[in-house]
Amino acid sequence: MFAAEQYETFQNEVRDFVLAHCPAGTRRIVAESGKLTRTRLAEWQRILYERGWGAPSWPKAYGGTGWDVWQRHIFDEVLAECDCPPQYHHGLRHIGPVLIEYGTPEQQQRFLPGILRGEDWWCQGYSEPGSGSDLASLKTAAQREGDVYRVSGQKIWTSHAHEADLMYTLVRTASTGRKQEGITMLLIPMDAPGLSVRPIRTIDGWHHVNEVFLDDVRVPVANRVGEQDRGWEYGKFLLSRERLGSANVAPLFQLLERTKRLVASRLEGPAEARRREHLALRLLMAEAEIVGQRELGVRAIEDVVQARPLGLAPSALKMASSRLMQQVSEIAFEVLGPTLAGRFGAKEGEVEDMNWLQSYLFFRARTIVGGTNEVQKNVIAKALFGD
Ligand SMILES: Cc1cc2nc3c(=O)[nH]c(=O)nc-3n(C[C@H](O)[C@H](O)[C@H](O)COP(=O)(O)OP(=O)(O)OC[C@H]3O[C@@H](n4cnc5c(N)ncnc54)[C@H](O)[C@@H]3O)c2cc1C
Repeated sequence: MFAAEQYETFQNEVRDFVLAHCPAGTRRIVAESGKLTRTRLAEWQRILYERGWGAPSWPKAYGGTGWDVWQRHIFDEVLAECDCPPQYHHGLRHIGPVLIEYGTPEQQQRFLPGILRGEDWWCQGYSEPGSGSDLASLKTAAQREGDVYRVSGQKIWTSHAHEADLMYTLVRTASTGRKQEGITMLLIPMDAPGLSVRPIRTIDGWHHVNEVFLDDVRVPVANRVGEQDRGWEYGKFLLSRERLGSANVAPLFQLLERTKRLVASRLEGPAEARRREHLALRLLMAEAEIVGQRELGVRAIEDVVQARPLGLAPSALKMASSRLMQQVSEIAFEVLGPTLAGRFGAKEGEVEDMNWLQSYLFFRARTIVGGTNEVQKNVIAKALFGD
């Protein structure tokens, strides 16, 4: 661990670098709560990779930075403070750690560099129609024939499938025993013959989620992670890291600061004083919780680094951060709402307002994605009281 002044030096180094190298157009989109394309996120990942900061949370041996918990934390906060985007998570925070833990050396050599350089984009093919919360009931079937699996079935709500190169997915390889026992994790290229993607349009008007259809897709056995029928273990490892993404409260602080500025700039006059003060109080209450969330998040990341069991932290952090995201964006919506309600498609000078509306609607899904609130409560209740 560094001395306090060394952390300060590190913080300044990160700030100087990102302010000098994060493209202005990208920072403007982030500052206006806009949606970033793959091209912009990949460009940003390449810039960080070239600086040696491609994977803040990976071990050095795999191209990571080897930073301690506080350095990672400072890095995330400086990025948010400077309106730089967070790194694309599916490769770096989801499948990357799984491959480091369970992948073969060949898989690590083949897949990790593309994630680090921002060249390979991954998506997650877990959920199916009828198998979301009850994920272990999934039915997409994979039958082994020599050195390939033949895969048929359907995935749904697959974020970024339309712009991804590869999908990590859970498939059924056996139907006997407990439903968790016959599941296997496969890595499937999105251009594999027999795989097709259909968009799902969501209430926010953005395109993030899709249906993915698999019709006799042939996947090499070399693309299987770990052992056949043990995919549930790897999938759960990944899901707890996904939920732990909520331990990074930097985006929450960023949203809070932007909302404070919005309240101050849009409710300026004396006639708005009462409303402004009321919203300022609500923002302060949210800030108090976000500060607490930051403490819990740092402790949870320290547990990961020390290889201690994560316990209830991922579920508790995910529930709290989803609620806070929704609460703060509701405040922004209350400031702008009357002028925006019922409209999509920005007119000149309205881009930022429309982005606020779309973000507000997008954050509705936070309590569903990665396991619903009810499911998190079940996880916590089971851990506390048993089955
Ligand atoms: C924007 C968005 C992005 C997503 N991205 C991805 C992705 O990239 N990859 C992927 O695989 N999936 C993704 N998902 C899917 C997400 O993980 C599922 O939607 C989620 O797990 C819920 O499953 P479901 O939609 O089938 O709802 P259901 O499981 O059918 O749940 C319906 C309702 O019943 C409640 N419920 C269900 N079971 C219980 C229970 N045992 N006790 C109490 N209440 C219960 C739920 O809380 C919910 O309110 C995404 C979803 C959204 C909305």
